[in-house]
Amino acid sequence: MQTRRAFMATGLSVAAHRGSSSLIADDDVGIVSRGVSGADQQTVGVKVLLPRNRVPLSFVIDDSTCLVNMGHFCTPQFAEALPDRAEYKKPWRDWPREIPDQFVRRFGEWCADRGVRGKYSIVPYPACVGWVDREMPGWSRRQLQGSLKLVRELMVPNWDIHPEMITHTRVIDLKTGRPMEAINAGTMENSYPQQKKSVDELAVYLAYALRILKRCDLPCEGITTPGGFGNLVKSELALAVDQAVRDVYHVDLPHYFKYVRTGEQNTEPILEHVRGLGTDDLSLTVNVPAGTGDWFGGWQGDRVPDTDRYCNQDATSGRMVELIERKQPAIMLCHWPGIYSNGTEAGFRAFQRIVTSLHARYRDQTVWMKLSEIGRYWAAKDLTAMKRNGKQIALNAPFDVKHFTLRVANAMGPARLDARLKQVSKISALTAGTWFQSGQDQILCFNLERGSSLLQWD
Ligand SMILES: [Zn+2]
Repeated sequence: MQTRRAFMATGLSVAAHRGSSSLIADDDVGIVSRGVSGADQQTVGVKVLLPRNRVPLSFVIDDSTCLVNMGHFCTPQFAEALPDRAEYKKPWRDWPREIPDQFVRRFGEWCADRGVRGKYSIVPYPACVGWVDREMPGWSRRQLQGSLKLVRELMVPNWDIHPEMITHTRVIDLKTGRPMEAINAGTMENSYPQQKKSVDELAVYLAYALRILKRCDLPCEGITTPGGFGNLVKSELALAVDQAVRDVYHVDLPHYFKYVRTGEQNTEPILEHVRGLGTDDLSLTVNVPAGTGDWFGGWQGDRVPDTDRYCNQDATSGRMVELIERKQPAIMLCHWPGIYSNGTEAGFRAFQRIVTSLHARYRDQTVWMKLSEIGRYWAAKDLTAMKRNGKQIALNAPFDVKHFTLRVANAMGPARLDARLKQVSKISALTAGTWFQSGQDQILCFNLERGSSLLQWD
């Protein structure tokens, strides 16, 4: 409980954005359910591997939205609520008010061409400038609708869309839709709430944000917390995510992004609040953390990117390399203004260099995934029951998942799921519907369906 008290003490001066890692380090008490698994993973000689036997990569983009440059618009609002902080006294007036759609298009196309996937926030009422589902003062209705269309068509296929709460600045009074009258740390979303809130109270707030995105026809399976949002109610927050996302979007597996793992901490997703295991009423929330800080241009877009800290030119050092070598999810974090870099695009160039270096060395050993896909894989990995009986393995999966990958000891000859799986001659060729012989063992990869399925050998 030491750590929780430490959080109470820091609650009033919570960091505005991820990156001040001491304030967002994971110190959850009592909500982690990893290993509370009904799955018979003790099945001798059967082990779930990484998807396609590759390390998942992902790119988390915070503080993005339509048109509005959050660095420009958030800074004066933070300055008023927390006047002592030097980072809020920066010359925000000199920064562009817009991150233009032509930049979103070039970024999105560059990523799509290389298979990059991740999470892209759409703040629904960004810094109280306007509502993405109605009106964005400073831009025409047609520009706003064009911006949303671009996100739906170019980004949605490869990126999870998350609301990053409602405004990312002022707390909204849900009865009136207006910002709270008082301006202080307690009425900023980044440091909200400052006292205990029930799961229901939090869920109503999250659902309000989600409904705005739903009215924009944006799909959504999770949320991102702005900075320290929910730091005092971590367990309740995870349950609230579960409630709100299921309620508004009717998805079977909600997830969220809040935490950054550093040093030796494990970067794998954590299954939280697992309830109803072994019944048709299974529910849980997946906490998908990032494995890096933001070393691009920062949330205000004014920092020089520290590119090599992610990955050097020949991909022999850097945090991403470290995580890939550890075979744990390598999830990079940035803030969107720090990719645009107030028009210089220095962050984007840094990102391009990192991706190019990683692909040159690790293309065959890694796979880009959305956060929802990584979360789903871990839920299936930890919760799918498996029983081996002679030349059969019976699987009972609570979630369907793509590219489920197993190592099965002492297996020879072709395996069947429904149809026969196809043998591949090198392990990097593994994809759904194939298997690879590795000595006495087989590595099999297939799309796992929810419910029962039977893997068998002739
Ligand atoms: Zn943020």
